[in-house]
Amino acid sequence: MGSIALVTGASRGIGRSIALKLGKEGYTVIVNYSGSKDRAEAVVSEIEEAGGSAEAVQCQVQNFDEVKAMVKHITDTHGSIDLVVNNAGVTKDNLLMRMKEAEWDQVVDVNLKGTFNVIQNVARPMIRQKGGRIINISSIVGSLGNAGQTNYVASKAGIDGMTKSVARELAPKGITVNAVAPGFIESDMTDVLSDDVKSQMLAQIPLNHFGNTDDIAETVAFLASGSARYITGQTIHVNGGMYMG
Ligand code: NDP
Repeated sequence: MGSIALVTGASRGIGRSIALKLGKEGYTVIVNYSGSKDRAEAVVSEIEEAGGSAEAVQCQVQNFDEVKAMVKHITDTHGSIDLVVNNAGVTKDNLLMRMKEAEWDQVVDVNLKGTFNVIQNVARPMIRQKGGRIINISSIVGSLGNAGQTNYVASKAGIDGMTKSVARELAPKGITVNAVAPGFIESDMTDVLSDDVKSQMLAQIPLNHFGNTDDIAETVAFLASGSARYITGQTIHVNGGMYMG
């Protein structure tokens, strides 16, 4: 049986590109989504048309029981789970003094708790298999901070820290755990920003252009590959030079 990869939030944007790339690399890809059933099924069709294999699975990553059921479905149906990309993420931007409790809760629940939920549920089958790869999608702002994104930045900085802790715990089991921190990548998440904000961002990018979703997919594919077997506990920044750690 071939390798099985779960990509959360793979119906659109960065997750979609990661799913398509992994499909081309020969993984059977589980295309997780929250609400966009049609778009997730379109990603599955695209992978299949390119000769690969995929399945769409709906699940809200912030719900522990739904994640548990999704992982059980994957191991029952496909026999293993070899690679997980925790990509599902949301923003609810607001200045600190205006931020609603619900805005904090939603972003931290989906981005941070969702990542924990998936990692804890896939760790058991990966430990049984004596190996696996976990890749968490963080963000440049987890390192830089960003006015108006206290909730989002806390969730992404949390992912960077969690990546190191889990990498230490799972290394003896042959499982590597890394994060990829995108800079400004063109997607639905960044389309909503005003032209003003976009040109301010561009002025801070030494390579002088925004990234695209394939830039992130390529980095994920490298971390998933045998070439990256000695890399664990790292956050890899992909941002055109906007932040140099
Ligand atoms: P998009 O908004 O384009 O896509 C978000 C994806 O996450 C969708 O597939 C969506 O599914 C899914 N999703 C949202 N909520 C949930 C949930 N509760 N459970 C499961 N899936 C969910 O985002 P991007 O592609 O831009 O971002 C992907 C990741 O990259 C995120 O973690 C984001 O924080 C990070 N990132 C993005 C940057 C950028 O510049 N774009 C920069 C830095 C980090 P559905 O379609 O069903 O709603």
